[in-house]
Amino acid sequence: MMAADAGATVLKDKEEPPKMPEKKKTKFDVLIIGAGPAGYTAGIYCSRAGYDTLIISGILPGGQLINTTEVENYPGFESGIMGPDLMIEMKKQTRRMGTSIIDDEVVAVDFRQKPLKVLTSSEEYEAKAVIIATGANPRKLGLQGEQNFAGKGVSYCATCDGPFFKNQEIIVVGGGDSAIEEATFLTKFASTVHIVHRRDKLRASMIMQQRAMDNEKIRFHWDSEISDIVGDQKVQQTIIKNVKTGQEKILKSGAVFVAIGHEPNTKLFQNQIDLDDEGYIILKNKTQTNKSGVFAAGDVHDRTYRQAVTAAGYGCMAAIDVDKYLTEEA
Ligand code: NAP
Repeated sequence: MMAADAGATVLKDKEEPPKMPEKKKTKFDVLIIGAGPAGYTAGIYCSRAGYDTLIISGILPGGQLINTTEVENYPGFESGIMGPDLMIEMKKQTRRMGTSIIDDEVVAVDFRQKPLKVLTSSEEYEAKAVIIATGANPRKLGLQGEQNFAGKGVSYCATCDGPFFKNQEIIVVGGGDSAIEEATFLTKFASTVHIVHRRDKLRASMIMQQRAMDNEKIRFHWDSEISDIVGDQKVQQTIIKNVKTGQEKILKSGAVFVAIGHEPNTKLFQNQIDLDDEGYIILKNKTQTNKSGVFAAGDVHDRTYRQAVTAAGYGCMAAIDVDKYLTEEA
């Protein structure tokens, strides 16, 4: 007992003094919410401009491209790149520039006064400027088959995935401008495009409707919805049901493009910044929201282009605007 105690004392004398747990850094020049192409690009530009920058990644680090297979339309990759690989490269590049990145979820923000506050479940962060890059999610049909075959025949982006289905029959679900635009675009590749719409009237603008009606490759399935998407490794056939008669038919197609709208990830910002009636952030000047010091980039405000490369472009613009704002504020 004695010897053990003495030994313990000797050991203690040689030990380093106990280290206090390092206090987590919570104050930054710029805080970016969201880690898709817009968020990472904003991080790269802010860090290179010398700002102490933090990205809080949110629930889907990497954004929508994490659920994508091959990306052929992001410049710089001759043979294309897998979506998740592209996002890993962006993350590594952003880190190398000096941006701190944490995989945590923002639960609340307070933009009423400076410094701007961003809260996760465990920390309260402060920043001089905030860039919102939380993106948007395509609205889902809610079918099990849709979930099972996402990226394996089920897609939410015709521009991204259309070229994979050359000379095949393609299904597009929806009756708005997106669905009609995507269906028309897809006729460049498809042998036939089947538009499946739940009503007997399209919501799309007249000019888009007319263009689709005049296109010989497009067939309409009115008053119809998808009741199942089935296959083995990828989509093989889709069952569509007439909602008026209950009659079902099978379309043998390996591609289902769901184009029933998007939902911007802006619930957090309700009552803090101006949103339009569909929840998209309203910008008053390029990337500036109605709150001083709060900027937005990417699909969270852009309902038109919705591409990785345009989101990255908006991230760059937001960072340059933040630089201008912080230089003028200081
Ligand atoms: P949208 O206008 O909201 O249309 C969504 C379509 O999907 C509607 O036809 C809707 O049917 C259908 N739908 C919604 N939920 C569904 C469900 N659970 N199952 C089956 N069908 C469902 O969305 P959007 O087409 O993405 O357009 C969004 C906005 O962007 C619009 O303001 C649009 O004008 C604009 N936009 C413009 C262009 C352009 O001008 N080039 C291109 C794309 C988008 P119902 O009709 O029965 O409601």
